[in-house]
Amino acid sequence: MNDTLPPLREIIRKHDLRAKKSFGQNFLLDLNLTGKIARVAGNLDDSVVYEVGPGPGGLTRALLANGASRVVAVEMDERCLPALEEITNAFDNRLEIISGNALDINEPEAMKLNAQVTARIASNLPYNVGTLLFIKWLTLETWKPWYSSLTLMFQKEVAERIVAKPNTKAYGRLSVLAQWRGNVRIAMHVPAAAFTPPPKVDSAIIHYEPTEPIDPDVKLSDLELVVEKAFGQRRKMLRASLKSLPVDALKLLAMADIKETARAETLSVADFVKLAKTYRQLL
Ligand code: SAM
Repeated sequence: MNDTLPPLREIIRKHDLRAKKSFGQNFLLDLNLTGKIARVAGNLDDSVVYEVGPGPGGLTRALLANGASRVVAVEMDERCLPALEEITNAFDNRLEIISGNALDINEPEAMKLNAQVTARIASNLPYNVGTLLFIKWLTLETWKPWYSSLTLMFQKEVAERIVAKPNTKAYGRLSVLAQWRGNVRIAMHVPAAAFTPPPKVDSAIIHYEPTEPIDPDVKLSDLELVVEKAFGQRRKMLRASLKSLPVDALKLLAMADIKETARAETLSVADFVKLAKTYRQLL
């Protein structure tokens, strides 16, 4: 479904929204592409969508045109606010703009969520804070979390780390955090040329849905700790890389049924979960 607003290039010209590097601005101006991204986010009817960095509003318009009941968007660049206000007017006030830094936002509060609505996050994230925000959403203490899905644009290489499987170079902390209590996939590849201005690297859209954890008794902080130690020295054997934990590393590995000579990247996500659980038992 198309909206009746002017093309994005015209909006950028009218409001003088030349992309600024300091804000991580690479805009998507093709509304067919933003429409596809909005569809990856799922059935948006009855969904309230949280968007970081709407910029001139390409993805925002697509989310609204695809039926989101409300979009709450946080934008740090005040130059974009008048352009976004036009979208609010064109879509019956279903768009609410928050002027500020996404790192400071308490999303459920900002979105005025209640139990009846499905909350989703969809964003072409600014590269400088993208991974930070993703980790914030993956490491919420309350699980399942307040959102039903994340549809996010990352640099291709970061997206590959998120979905990576064991025994690959890309497999690491981000893969384990994203996979121990969620399903995640690369839903779309987006070439650098699709952005204005084009960044140096290609990008990809990941779609993430939270699930029950592999083991509900495992503490997130324990998992984060063992994963950090194991991958902190990823070329070393685990008996060495886990040495700085306040438990006997050899005993820990034996109890978790993991070879002491194994390296972090050979462990499955379930192995890490087991390691975290055993760690807690040994403390
Ligand atoms: N959504 C637009 C699109 O797809 O064309 C713009 C995406 S651009 C990659 C990232 C946007 O995030 C920019 O509009 C930028 O001003 C905004 N931004 C950067 N850092 C931010 C932050 N910390 N909080 C909120 N918005 C931020």
